[in-house]
Amino acid sequence: RSMKHIRNFSIIAHIDHGKSTLADRIIHLCGGLSDREMESQVLDSMDLERERGITIKAQTAALEYKARDGQVYQLNLIDTPGHVDFTYEVSRSLAACEGALLVVDASQGVEAQTVANCYTAIEQGVEVVAVLNKIDLPSAEPERVIAEIEDIIGIDAQDAVRASAKSGLGVEDILDAVISRIPPPKGNIDAPLKALIIDSWFDNYVGVVMLVRVVDGVLKPKDKILLMASQTTHLCEQVGVFTPKTKARAQLSAGDVGFIIAGIKELNSAKVGDTVTLANNPAAEPLPGFKEIQPQVFAGLYPVESHDYDALRDALEKLKLNDASLQYEPETSQALGFGFRCGFLGLLHLDIVQERLEREYDMDLITTAPTVIYQILMKDGEVIEIENPSRLPDLSKIEEIREPIINATILVPQDYVGAVITLCTEKRGMQRNMQYMGRQVMLSYEMPMNEVVMDFFDKLKSVSRGYASLDYEFKEFRASDLVKLDILVNSEKVDALSLIVHRNTSQRRGRELAAKMRELIPRQMYDVAVQAAIGANILARENVKALRKNVLAKCYGGDISRKRKLLEKQKAGKKRMKQVGNVEIPQEAFLAILKID
Ligand code: GDP
Ligand code: MG
Repeated sequence: RSMKHIRNFSIIAHIDHGKSTLADRIIHLCGGLSDREMESQVLDSMDLERERGITIKAQTAALEYKARDGQVYQLNLIDTPGHVDFTYEVSRSLAACEGALLVVDASQGVEAQTVANCYTAIEQGVEVVAVLNKIDLPSAEPERVIAEIEDIIGIDAQDAVRASAKSGLGVEDILDAVISRIPPPKGNIDAPLKALIIDSWFDNYVGVVMLVRVVDGVLKPKDKILLMASQTTHLCEQVGVFTPKTKARAQLSAGDVGFIIAGIKELNSAKVGDTVTLANNPAAEPLPGFKEIQPQVFAGLYPVESHDYDALRDALEKLKLNDASLQYEPETSQALGFGFRCGFLGLLHLDIVQERLEREYDMDLITTAPTVIYQILMKDGEVIEIENPSRLPDLSKIEEIREPIINATILVPQDYVGAVITLCTEKRGMQRNMQYMGRQVMLSYEMPMNEVVMDFFDKLKSVSRGYASLDYEFKEFRASDLVKLDILVNSEKVDALSLIVHRNTSQRRGRELAAKMRELIPRQMYDVAVQAAIGANILARENVKALRKNVLAKCYGGDISRKRKLLEKQKAGKKRMKQVGNVEIPQEAFLAILKID
C-alpha cells in the first residue's frame, strides 16, 4: 500500500480524559480485535497499568480502516502515557507520528497535561486534531471547552470533533478527521534505510524487540542491520506490526511503524532514539533521536532480610530490561545494610517500581524517603552532586548547597486560586505569572523540586477538591539555605532517616518528624529515645515507652501450638520492619517525612 494511505498518529490527553478508552474503541471499530478479545483497555497491557488505570509504556496498533470515501487506510495508532512522570514517553511517541488527537474531557476542560502535551506536539511539528470526549455526560460543556482550548492553548478548536469513547458516538468522525486532516508520512522508499527506535524491550522468547518508525527505505528479514549509535550489526530475523496482536510482515517500508527482532540479547545495544540502517547500504546520517532522560527522584531500596540482597539485584536487573529510565547502584547504609540507591522519574514511577518488585518478584522491601539531587559547591571549588542526604560532606568544607528548581504550571478554577497560592507560598514557591483564562487561572511558579517531591501533588488536589492540575519541568540548580536534619534513635544517628530541608522550616519539621516517629515506632522491651538534630543541636526529643508486659507471658504454661501461632503472627507482622541497632523500625517510619505538614 502506498504512503498516501498511511496515517501515523498518537492520542494525547490529561490523565483520565479517556485516551485509553478511545484507543480501544478505535481498535474495535477497525476490527483489530474480536468482541471476545476486547477485554477492557487492551492497550494498557501491564497488570499494574490496568489496575491503576494509567498508561506507563506507549503501545501501538496497526489498523485497517475503510473510510467513508470507500478507500482502505492503514492507521498506525501509538498510545501515550498521560502522567507527568512519563512525559518523555509522549515526545518519543510523537516522533513517530504526523498527527495527534488531543483528547479533552468535555466535562472537565483543559488541564495542565493537556497544555503540556499539546505544546510538545506543536513543537515536534505534529498536526493536532482536538477531540471533545465524554460528550455523553450531562455535565459536558463542549462550547466552554472549545473556548478554553483556544484561550489557554491558543489553537483553533472550532472544528473539534465531539465524541464519546464510551458509547462510540463520533468515533468514525474522529477517524475521518485523522484521514483528512493529518498528512500522510513523507519519506523516500528508495533511500538507504533509516528507522527510529521509539521503544525497545526484552522478551524472554525472542530477546530484544524494537518498535520503530521507518523514515526512509525498506527492511526485510535476513537483511543485516546496523545500529548507528551503538555501532553493532545484527541479522534481522523478523519484522511485523502490532494489531495489537503480533503479526509478521514480509517487510517494513518508509512510513510504517512496526517491530524488528534481530536476536539482540542486550537492551543496551538497542537504545531508544538510535537509528537502524542497513550494514551494506548505511544511511549517511542518523536521525536526531531523543534527549536522554535523567531521573529526578532518588530513594534507597533495601531488602528486609539481608540474605535477599542478591534476589533484589536480580529483580532490579530484570526490571531495568523493560524500563530504561530506572537507575540503580549498590549502596550501603549503617542502619539498613546492603541495598540500592535507585533513581526514578518521579514519585509515581518510584511507587510503580516498588510495587512491581513486591508483586512480581516477591520482595519485602524497606524504601527510604525520596530525595532530589543536590549540587554542592565545596570550598576548594569542586562541585559534586549527592543523591543521598546522609552523604552530605562536612559543613565546614561546603561553600554552598544548591537545590533543583522547577518551573511549575498549575491550572485551577478561580474558586480555588487563593488556596493554591497559599500552598505554593508555603512550599517556597515564587510566582512568575498569573493569567485568568475564562473560568480557569493559569499560575506559573518557580519552586524547589524537593518541596514538590514531598507531597505537593496530594496537597494541591486536596486544597482544590481535585480540580487543580500540575505540570513541571526542571529549570536549574540554585543556592539555598539548606541544612541536614538527622534523626537519632537511642542516641545513634540513623543514616537512612537523614534529610535535607530549608533552614526556615527545619525546626518545625524536626519537631513534627520526631513526634511522628514516636507514633510509628512500636513499643519495645525498653524505652526508645527519638531525637531530631541539626549537627550537634538537638531540636526535639520524644520517648517511646517500653512495653509493660511480655506478650509471651500470656502463654505461660499454655499449650505450645498457641505459643507457636503467636510467634508466627509476630513474625508476619515484622515483615516490613528493620532492626536498627536494638530497635525495630517499621517501613512507615522511613517515609514519615511524607506524612507531616
Ligand atoms: P486515560 O487516563 O486518558 O487513558 O483515561 P481512560 O481511558 O482510562 O478513562 C478514564 C475514565 O473515563 C474511565 O473511567 C472511562 O471509563 C471514562 N471514560 C472514558 N471515555 C468516556 C466517555 O466518552 N464517556 C464517559 N462517560 N466516560 C468515559
Ligand atoms: Mg490510559
